[in-house]
Amino acid sequence: MASIEHDVVIVGSGAAGHSCARTLRSEGFAGRIRILNGEGGPAINRTLVDTGVLPGLLTGAQIALPPLPDAEVIDARAVRIDGSTRTVVLDDGRELRADALVLASGSMPRPLDDAIEIDAGVRQHALHSAEDAERLRSAVPELEGASIVVLGAGFIGAEVASHYVGVGARVTLIGRSRLPLREAVGADISVRLAALHAERVDARLGARVVAIRPADAPGRDDAAIVQLDDGSEIAGDALVVAVGSEPAASWAGFDGAIAVDDRFRVPGMPGVYAAGSVSAPELPQGRVRVDHWDAATAQGAHAARAVLHDLGVADDPGAWAPTTGFSLMAYGAVIGARGVRSPDAQETSDDLGGGGLLTDFADASGRLTGVAGWNAGPHLMRAAARL
Ligand SMILES: Cc1cc2nc3c(=O)[nH]c(=O)nc-3n(C[C@H](O)[C@H](O)[C@H](O)COP(=O)(O)OP(=O)(O)OC[C@H]3O[C@@H](n4cnc5c(N)ncnc54)[C@H](O)[C@@H]3O)c2cc1C
Repeated sequence: MASIEHDVVIVGSGAAGHSCARTLRSEGFAGRIRILNGEGGPAINRTLVDTGVLPGLLTGAQIALPPLPDAEVIDARAVRIDGSTRTVVLDDGRELRADALVLASGSMPRPLDDAIEIDAGVRQHALHSAEDAERLRSAVPELEGASIVVLGAGFIGAEVASHYVGVGARVTLIGRSRLPLREAVGADISVRLAALHAERVDARLGARVVAIRPADAPGRDDAAIVQLDDGSEIAGDALVVAVGSEPAASWAGFDGAIAVDDRFRVPGMPGVYAAGSVSAPELPQGRVRVDHWDAATAQGAHAARAVLHDLGVADDPGAWAPTTGFSLMAYGAVIGARGVRSPDAQETSDDLGGGGLLTDFADASGRLTGVAGWNAGPHLMRAAARL
């Protein structure tokens, strides 16, 4: 097993970084592990920001990830890497050099399009950290009858809309696509989700925002007015922006996601790896960046095994295959998926009876690459076993 003098540095202690550190130890790595935590507090289970902290069920402290007793956690941000020497430079000027450097810095909320005219006084709420959720909670303390505008009808937009409807607020959900989450769940499930949004909220799907300005509402400092391209204006006591995520890779000199091979190695930088939502591994279906918790955890673990192999102390873990997935609950409907859906996937849906639906995604050669389900219960798990 890896000798005691081997040294691994991991940037980011979220899903991928945490899993990488844990896997190194569980596979018997005896060397030094240093892991950078740039969260500004404990590293968290980010999936609970909108479903746990926003509804007030959990605090930021309660969604902290378990401590990593066998690693040196350094509370600092990385600002630069030197890939040729596997060195990372911290914001306090320290330099950490390692035998293997794993970049697991995750992603950040995508900002709104530059084409939208946004008045400087507008307060936008993103949901990324526990503090974001707490800020949004305090912006609208009285929920009964409050109005919330949600920009973005993806995963977070759907969960936030569903939460606010459940507590008696009026919600307007604005999405660019008429078919929300189609790239992830396929057309048939997306049609069902669009219909459910239309039933439960003021759904403006297929709409484009042209301008946002603050609203003059006494006692509501976060109130905003959103103007759409059809000329309509929507006022809300708070504006939640959830238009997707972007890889947090520019600090390391990468433009967009960090392209890696199917073992999470950064080409041209021996000993440097990138895993989780900051990375885009090369897979048979093309380069795929996945921003889901289970994928990040699985990628961090796979990268750890690749590190051990490249240090000469373990077998080759083989190519990573995306069999993980996600689940999303919106207005009581459970939507889940496993594997991946490539942009040109062939889709076949099966009505499961009782309101359930299962969709298979196949690549051009007919090979199954992913499955998605709508209230599919155990059928989804059984289908995933075919991947
Ligand atoms: C509100 C919300 C809800 C979500 N819900 C779900 C869900 O229900 N299901 C699901 O599958 N996925 C969900 N996700 C996505 C999931 O949380 C991410 O896919 C997952 O956290 C990605 O893991 P990661 O390790 O790549 O990044 P993260 O878990 O974000 O970890 C990255 C870490 O790196 C740190 N970091 C960044 N830059 C630096 C730097 N320069 N130096 C040092 N540290 C740095 C960050 O502070 C962070 O702690 C949700 C995301 C959000 C924002």
